[in-house]
Amino acid sequence: MAATVIDGKAFAAKVRGQVAEHVDRLKSGHGITPGLAVVLVGSDPASEVYVRSKGKMTVEVGMKSFEHKLSADTSEKDLLDLIDKLNNDPEVHGILVQLPLPDHLDEDLVINSITPAKDVDGFHISNVGLLSTGQKSMVPCTPLGCLMMLRDHHGSISGMDAVVIGRSNIVGKPMAQLLLRDSATVTIAHSRTKDLPEVVRRADIVVAAVGRPEMVIGDWIKPGATVIDVGINRIERDGKTKLVGDADYESCAKVAGAITPVPGGVGPMTIACLLANTLTACCRANGLDEPE
Ligand code: NDP
Repeated sequence: MAATVIDGKAFAAKVRGQVAEHVDRLKSGHGITPGLAVVLVGSDPASEVYVRSKGKMTVEVGMKSFEHKLSADTSEKDLLDLIDKLNNDPEVHGILVQLPLPDHLDEDLVINSITPAKDVDGFHISNVGLLSTGQKSMVPCTPLGCLMMLRDHHGSISGMDAVVIGRSNIVGKPMAQLLLRDSATVTIAHSRTKDLPEVVRRADIVVAAVGRPEMVIGDWIKPGATVIDVGINRIERDGKTKLVGDADYESCAKVAGAITPVPGGVGPMTIACLLANTLTACCRANGLDEPE
């Protein structure tokens, strides 16, 4: 039987709709408008596309969008000064610094200079520590979007075997923490993992966050498993540029019970979760009930 396609695009539209309703209530009931500041250093074309679409969707849900575009040779001091200004700006509830940063800037230093309460990417060490100890935190957007799709599809994932391929700080590690928090049995695989296909074959849930086009093939997938494909890879095929995931969609969809497509799966959920996190940050800053 063909796998159920988990429609991240439709799910993300629903999440954005819920965020927009909540923003409306904040405005009319409390006179508060959530604000998201996005900082882009340099002119990486992919980052520019992400920043533009984040700004557009921020405005669409009724929030204020503050875009700060800095030149590629911006000094660390100037960037830290801007973050300090945003940390102290009451109109800004969420701050996102688009990664990767140019080489001369210390990514850890920059991320850790954001006030944790405004760190809507959830990358600040305080938020990482809070998440890993099961406390209230800001949760990284991409893994949060993956978890929401898994909960929506399965109801509960408690006791399921999950394999996360990739151990980056922005996807793999926080994804594993979230799966663990929901009581899945979690394995984290990476480039040194022995016999990856065999490890993946044990999984009821496979999250592929590797950055290698179509690496995970159907032969690795346990029949009926759920495949969440985080990868965004641009490849040339038949003379055209195409976006593909880290899973080979065609072969995996023949074996899996459910699968996220690329594009239209995890990607749209990431931005929806960014908006949801900004709303949460705004509610917390004002001592108001948080959205569910
Ligand atoms: P990183 O490059 O930071 O991490 C990749 C991970 O994959 C590493 O842990 C690496 O292992 C592991 N890996 C590499 N090769 C292999 C291999 N052959 N077998 C097993 N594991 C391997 O990438 P990110 O986590 O930042 O991103 C992963 C993918 O997700 C990319 O395609 C990226 O574009 C996409 N992405 C999508 C987002 C979205 O919104 N949908 C958001 C963020 C990322 P090791 O640690 O040993 O080197």
